[in-house]
Amino acid sequence: MRVLETDISMNGALFLLTVNFLIAQLFCAFFLVISRRSRIPSAGLWFAAAFAVASLSAVFEVMIRYGDFDRIASFGAFSSVLSALLMIRVGIGRLYAVPANIWTITALLCAALPLNLMIYDLPRGSFAHSLGYQMPFAIAELICAVAVYRSGRRETADRVLMALLLVTAGNFASKVYFAVKFSGGDTAQAYLGSTFALVSQSLSAVLVVSTGLTLLAVIVVEIMDDAKANSEIDPLSGLLNRRGFDARVSQILARPMSAYPHSVIVCDLDHFKAVNDTYGHGAGDQVILAFGRMLAGHAPPEAICARFGGEEFAIFLPSTGETTGYLFAQGLRNSFSSLAIIGLPDTVRLSASFGVCALASPGDSIVDTIKGADSALYDAKKGGRNRVNRAGQAISVNPEGWQAQA
Ligand code: GH3
Ligand code: MG
Ligand code: MG
Repeated sequence: MRVLETDISMNGALFLLTVNFLIAQLFCAFFLVISRRSRIPSAGLWFAAAFAVASLSAVFEVMIRYGDFDRIASFGAFSSVLSALLMIRVGIGRLYAVPANIWTITALLCAALPLNLMIYDLPRGSFAHSLGYQMPFAIAELICAVAVYRSGRRETADRVLMALLLVTAGNFASKVYFAVKFSGGDTAQAYLGSTFALVSQSLSAVLVVSTGLTLLAVIVVEIMDDAKANSEIDPLSGLLNRRGFDARVSQILARPMSAYPHSVIVCDLDHFKAVNDTYGHGAGDQVILAFGRMLAGHAPPEAICARFGGEEFAIFLPSTGETTGYLFAQGLRNSFSSLAIIGLPDTVRLSASFGVCALASPGDSIVDTIKGADSALYDAKKGGRNRVNRAGQAISVNPEGWQAQA
């Protein structure tokens, strides 16, 4: 009966080691695949390497059970897990832009690896053995958790990752106590056959899988955020597109403390078709780029600048009345009309027309405000171009007269 129990427990431990090995290999494959889509592929590659190295610890533990090289295999199991944890730290460094300190890693390895060889002959259940074996793991996990904390990122996945790393560090530290209390066995082989090893390895497996999944989630969230950001950016001008503009404006309008009024300016380059026809489509693109840069350069930090399409742009100025919006648009008009553009002859200057409309109160619709700015722009075009019109007041000002046309 006793023999049978031991057999079940031994088989259970072997089964778990096999499962651990396969899970680690699977994670390695997941990270390899997903890192190709990531903006920071090296992070995923470090995690893949970490899981590949971690899977070796299961191989070493099987060697402990069935081989005669207990000492080497035990050292192999320990060093593969510690190296894997430190590789995770390097990967976290890449992912969270908190580079790993090579000296900290070297110091930990230089202290922990010889220590592991030294404690091998101590009895398994002894405090000194458990401390020397488990503490390097706990410290490595703690270093990873501190790195995530230092990054300052606090999305749900980041918080979950930090919590898991801390719990795993605690798990390793608590093993010092439990290994002594339920002293598993005097040799590495006997330890692996013990119930304590079964429980301890199951808990560790759950923590490893959770940490692996969370790391994957952090990379997936990063890939999705990037894809979303790209879908909201106009590639030619680098400004937001209409979708990005609408999303940012809705965020501002949804703020309970949003201070009204806000202003919307829409602008359209004058006689742009003639620029394309005369200097070519490439030169036309340069004009769009130059106008976009000028907008971004002049706009206050809280302004939302977008290219709505073609040669039409929009600016949302939060907490800005129509008069201030109007003066700002005049400044833009003035700057653009004196701007030399790469790809066009030095003497050529272009112009743009602007329409301004204010969103006076929370009851106003942004769609109607944009329409109001559009019709003011239409009037500016009708009034002779290179001018700014306000929706609220029938003022059309062109202090400098008509500028050179393309
Ligand atoms: P108006 O002063 O009335 O605005 O005249 P316009 O010539 O600027 O306006 P129109 O709508 O007649 O022509 C706009 C031109 O913009 C036509 C189109 O070929 C060009 N265009 C639209 N998108 C792009 C682009 O991405 N690059 C370039 N180079 N041209 C573009
Ligand atoms: Mg135009
Ligand atoms: Mg147009």
